[in-house]
Amino acid sequence: NATNAGLMARRRAALPSGLGQTYEVFVERAVNAEVWDVQGKRYIDFAGGIAVLNTGHNHPKIVAAVKAQLDKVHHTCFQVVAYEPYVELAERLIAKAPGDFAKKAYFLSTGAEAVENAIKVARAATQRQAVIAFGGGFHGRTLLGMALTGKVAPYKAGFGPFPAEIYHAEYPNPLHGVTEADALRSIEHIFKYDVEAARVAAIILEPVQGEGGFYAVSPAFAQKLRALCDQHGIVLIADEVQTGAGRTGTWLACEQWGVAPDLITMAKSMAGGFPISAVIGKAELMDKPLPGGLGGTYAGSPIACAAALAVLDVFEEEKLLDRSKAVGQRLKNGLGQLATRFKAIQDVRGLGAMVAIELFKDGDLHQPDADLTKRVCAEAIKRGLILLSCGVYANVIRILVPLTATDENLDEGLTLLGEAFAAASA
Ligand code: PMP
Repeated sequence: NATNAGLMARRRAALPSGLGQTYEVFVERAVNAEVWDVQGKRYIDFAGGIAVLNTGHNHPKIVAAVKAQLDKVHHTCFQVVAYEPYVELAERLIAKAPGDFAKKAYFLSTGAEAVENAIKVARAATQRQAVIAFGGGFHGRTLLGMALTGKVAPYKAGFGPFPAEIYHAEYPNPLHGVTEADALRSIEHIFKYDVEAARVAAIILEPVQGEGGFYAVSPAFAQKLRALCDQHGIVLIADEVQTGAGRTGTWLACEQWGVAPDLITMAKSMAGGFPISAVIGKAELMDKPLPGGLGGTYAGSPIACAAALAVLDVFEEEKLLDRSKAVGQRLKNGLGQLATRFKAIQDVRGLGAMVAIELFKDGDLHQPDADLTKRVCAEAIKRGLILLSCGVYANVIRILVPLTATDENLDEGLTLLGEAFAAASA
């Protein structure tokens, strides 16, 4: 019989160490927000495969849609001979994206590819080169994805040189001393010190930084970015790979901005665990790359399109956007109570169900506590709770539990988190 320790030993021998693994656990099966490992131990899943399982593990409707598609056709390469689910998915995603203009959409397989493609479209459409991204941002592990990512270790360390013409502005983070005015000024500084605005193709940002620590920009900030982009003819890209598909209480987080980005990237939860990503945006930009310039062998596979269509159905049938808000509120209430018991917890925040707490030594905002964060996660997994940390200071615990989780699942997870905190603080 397989054990976690036995599989870990095989893994260590066969796989490179650069491929991280947060916990020494091998999963056998999963249902909704519950997971069982190869030794039969049960876990509550607050990680959701890093924001992929907004509709939970093995949702029966998504499983059924994928099985039905498997029996029809599972690969043609869309650019050779096409299939309807791809087109239907594009139509439905376009209809859900904000902005009072004609839109188009196309598909890739991973979040990083979607980001790369959004930059390709922006460059082809503007005939400009430069891109501004943000410190603390995460955009993927491909070469351009790494270049856009605003954190050296571990994502960029040893992997350069990176593509040229990428500049990093400051992402607003008042808790750590960066106001929204500071962030806007840092963009003006790039225009002054590094590259003229007229050569900037795009500004790309996450509406809420995911890997960076669950910091959100305000609608006012997004509106100022929109105005700046309009002033200089720059394409505004919202990277919604982690925030998208209902996590923040709306289908897309940028719906809450009051202004629309020109291009949007999605991946992760849009197909509940099947590999597909999307670029959605202004038709006049999207039509600029030459035929053949976009696409990929597996991009928008029939299987993944069927899964993504089922995800859209499940969101409607189960009213998951309402549920996202309710899950977020329940989590924030529980975490707020935890914060009264543990001084280390100095910030409970979240947009919809994209919720996090931030830990500081003795509650001192100048001392982010990465060690305690690690210990809490380690204590949690022992007790059967899968937690994720994140943040530029590695002191944030983030929750990406399925939106389909029951209240009992949520409360059980919160109780386990409290026990993990007590053990880690002792
Ligand atoms: N952008 C964001 C905002 C992400 O959170 C991620 C993944 N964590 C990516 C891009 C890259 O996605 P993938 O790992 O599917 O390439």
